[in-house]
Amino acid sequence: MGSGRSLVTAVVATIEAMILSMIRSVGHTLIGNLIGREEQLPVHILDRFPELRGARFRRGGLPLRVGGWCLGAASVTGITLWRTIWLSRRAPLDPGLLLHELRHVHQFGASPLFPVAYAWESLRYGYHHNRFEADARSFAARRLLEADSPPLTPS
Ligand SMILES: [Zn+2]
Repeated sequence: MGSGRSLVTAVVATIEAMILSMIRSVGHTLIGNLIGREEQLPVHILDRFPELRGARFRRGGLPLRVGGWCLGAASVTGITLWRTIWLSRRAPLDPGLLLHELRHVHQFGASPLFPVAYAWESLRYGYHHNRFEADARSFAARRLLEADSPPLTPS
């Protein structure tokens, strides 16, 4: 009967391993849905815009949904909290978007009261006319122009 018992032990061990792996994958998915997954930007983008090294990037996650709820949408393409930029799972790595969100990293760094000031601006003037959004748009546009035009040579 020894082999019967070892077969039972082996089956129980296999079932245990399957259950553990299911729990791990569900946990992984839950955490992924909550905080997203770390994303490394490709070198050609970092070489063109080295300042993007000053931010951390994640794909997916709850902050995008919360941002969406604030704007009456299911999700937003990008959202920044302090030094972390969350990009929606399908958002292309568009330098304009990355630079826009990077400006929000700068804004978070400039004042501990930035989140309050940002919320106030949004409530008072709306998302588009929020001066922090206007600043992020013009920053991204300026950096894209600089990157596209050849450097000025001293005369
Ligand atoms: Zn913005």
